[in-house]
Amino acid sequence: MKYVGAHVSAAGVIGNAPLNAAAIGARAFALFTRNQRQWTAKPFTEEEIATFRNHCREKGFSRGQILAHDGYLINLGHPEAEALAKSRAAFLTEIRRCEALGIALLNFHPGSHLRLISEEECLARIAESIRIAHAGTEGVTTVIENTAGQGSNLGFRFEQIARIIERVDDRNRVGVCLDTAHTFAAGYDLRTPESLAATLEEFDRIVGLGYLCGVHLNDSKAALGSRVDRHAPIGKGQIGLEPFRFIMNDSRFDGIPLILETPESERWAEEISLLYDLMEENR
Ligand SMILES: [Zn+2]
Ligand SMILES: [Zn+2]
Repeated sequence: MKYVGAHVSAAGVIGNAPLNAAAIGARAFALFTRNQRQWTAKPFTEEEIATFRNHCREKGFSRGQILAHDGYLINLGHPEAEALAKSRAAFLTEIRRCEALGIALLNFHPGSHLRLISEEECLARIAESIRIAHAGTEGVTTVIENTAGQGSNLGFRFEQIARIIERVDDRNRVGVCLDTAHTFAAGYDLRTPESLAATLEEFDRIVGLGYLCGVHLNDSKAALGSRVDRHAPIGKGQIGLEPFRFIMNDSRFDGIPLILETPESERWAEEISLLYDLMEENR
């Protein structure tokens, strides 16, 4: 079963996210559980939690079909102690919000060294941040998203993701989300079935496909290896349609959220049906 969906709006009313997803024909969805550009958020009321859970049940979204995304201000590898502590506290809050909502997967960007510490030191800080987060929570898997490697963001090489995972104690609670646009911008080709197969083999060898908990389905405005993060609608960028056809017909992508983060949200319903139409079984 392929669970294709999009990163839908939960602005103001968290319980609307599953409704917004169902309205575009999604079988999975991603969301921010709070304003992604602010440090603080009001705790959920009992009623908000109950409404969210009820709407997920009514629309048929189970735990494995929902992928929360953490806020943009968090940097779990921050070089400065005070800012690192603030990020870790905010990340803990994010996980607790997922626990409350019954969400099992929290996707996050690993972190940035801001050119103040070494890559290795930054990766060690990120891993320690994950260990701290795991120690204070339960039932939520922290899902590392690969990045385009823009600026000083880490996690654009599979080796960097592997370095983080090997330092985490509870590896049952860590996963990886591959973003197709980030993968491509980071320099891994996926435009042909051969190049995508080779990229997946490399990921499997270095990280392990067993860690794959989700995929962000985005075409890329930016070129291969450009280290620039610019998403494009499916089939309208430099990646093209072929890798999406491959993903939709490969059983390794069954049962995990496959999430559109493409620009032009008014196209999502069309993009979701386009993706399902790429499946051989639907032709
Ligand atoms: Zn992301
Ligand atoms: Zn993404």
